[in-house]
Amino acid sequence: AEVTRLAPSPTGFIHLGNLYSALTDERLAHRNGGKFYLRIEDTDAKRTVEGAVDTVINVLRYFNIEFDEGAGYPDDDERNAYGPYYQTQRVDIYHVYAKSLVERGLAYPCFCTEEELEEVRKQQEEAKELTGYYGKYATCRNLSDEEIEANIKAGKPYVLRLRSQGSPDKEIVFVDEIKGEVKLPENIHDIVLLKKDGIPTYHFAHAIDDHLMRTTVVVRGGEWLASAPIHYELFHVLGFKMPKYAHTAHLMKFDEETGGKRKLSKRKDPELSLDYYRKDGYHPYTMKVYLMTLLNSNFEEWHEKFPDKDINEFPFSLDKMSTSGALFDKDKLHNICKNELSKLSEDELYDFLYDWAEENEPEKKNIWFADKEKMLGILRLYMGIGMKRRRKDFMYAKQIFEMIGYFFDMEDTQEKDEFRMDTEDVKTILNEYLSMYNHEDDNSEWFNKLKAIADKHGYASDMKAYKANPEAFKGNVSDIAEVIRIAVTGKANTPDLWSIVHVMGEAQMRDKIQKVLA
Ligand code: GLU
Repeated sequence: AEVTRLAPSPTGFIHLGNLYSALTDERLAHRNGGKFYLRIEDTDAKRTVEGAVDTVINVLRYFNIEFDEGAGYPDDDERNAYGPYYQTQRVDIYHVYAKSLVERGLAYPCFCTEEELEEVRKQQEEAKELTGYYGKYATCRNLSDEEIEANIKAGKPYVLRLRSQGSPDKEIVFVDEIKGEVKLPENIHDIVLLKKDGIPTYHFAHAIDDHLMRTTVVVRGGEWLASAPIHYELFHVLGFKMPKYAHTAHLMKFDEETGGKRKLSKRKDPELSLDYYRKDGYHPYTMKVYLMTLLNSNFEEWHEKFPDKDINEFPFSLDKMSTSGALFDKDKLHNICKNELSKLSEDELYDFLYDWAEENEPEKKNIWFADKEKMLGILRLYMGIGMKRRRKDFMYAKQIFEMIGYFFDMEDTQEKDEFRMDTEDVKTILNEYLSMYNHEDDNSEWFNKLKAIADKHGYASDMKAYKANPEAFKGNVSDIAEVIRIAVTGKANTPDLWSIVHVMGEAQMRDKIQKVLA
């Protein structure tokens, strides 16, 4: 069984890439009874944002991803067994390993100042050499014990560095679970293990934590692949077994400006943030289906073949994941949304919308859900529930509420369609409609009355009349219906108008028409 982890830095920003990794981690662990845990990499105090941990937990929970262990559980909870899961609370642990490396001559204090390091870097750049702290440039490597003691006594700040054993002529070879065999030059840099304040770097903490927390597969962004030689060396000098690695592809997007692909960016693409989907009410299952489509090349085919199977049953595999950029495509996401929403039962849809409204629009929620039958009636109409074919017009909760605003006199959320007839004609038709209207009429009795209005004003109630005298053709009964439709709903396109009026009731319908007449 695999043990996997999500190890975010608590910056408060959780993005699609995190969900993509989390879904991979979760599938890997849970497909064979393993564990998935949450570790908080808060070693960079500047980037830590208060409440960020709750945000991670809540956002992932919204997408139905639960951790089996890790940050966020009470101290005495058994799901804390390998804790603490906050790196800032593990500093003593890192120091124990740091000391042992120093004792074995594998780490040393470095007193170089920022300015000195900057100077060396410039020299290296001028000489077109590899930049960094290594070989002859690693000047603190050879300090004697006396020099070290004197510096420390003098209160000079220092970092702790690895005494790298790597050779520039050698390569490491390992099998990445996604990318396959990877060959990279050995690490030769005396990288920083502990910063001046004694806090570990990502590299050092990664090796220790993933060992102690018994991680078997590290799923992380492809940007970390280049650091793998450092980790390879660290696991080796610490005497730990390497976990397996799976470096995921970047999420890319088609860039209209350049016509090429580019990485999704926090600054340019609001849809990179997971909160965006939660706020607009994308159904979490939909997002998971979409991400699975991106993750595994054979998922879509499987999902089409077994549309009713839960996606957790999909035989997920790392070797089907894309090795280069996975293309994020919003149209595709929207198509999946439409399709998946059309599979929800009436109750599921109702509950989903209710929960979204409660969370995001608590005041409007009381209005929308005051009359359950009315809401159900609207949903049946708009989603085609119980009809021959489900309608597939809707993508997310916010969009649904915008579309049905007029049932609650919230027209301001909708874009309004304009009448195509003159105001005078509109008023005449609406007046006649109101005076003929009988709420007891069935659909065809009601439609006959519209035809009567059409005939009276020279609109063809059937196509025979049109064929007999095409010159005189002004339009037909659907133009009459459109006037009433726009008056009642604000829209030229809606589900069946008779049904709409029977969900909203006669009084509200008359009220809306009176407003147009006023
Ligand atoms: N804290 C690192 C990040 O947010 C985690 C990388 C990893 O998963 O090891 O990028």
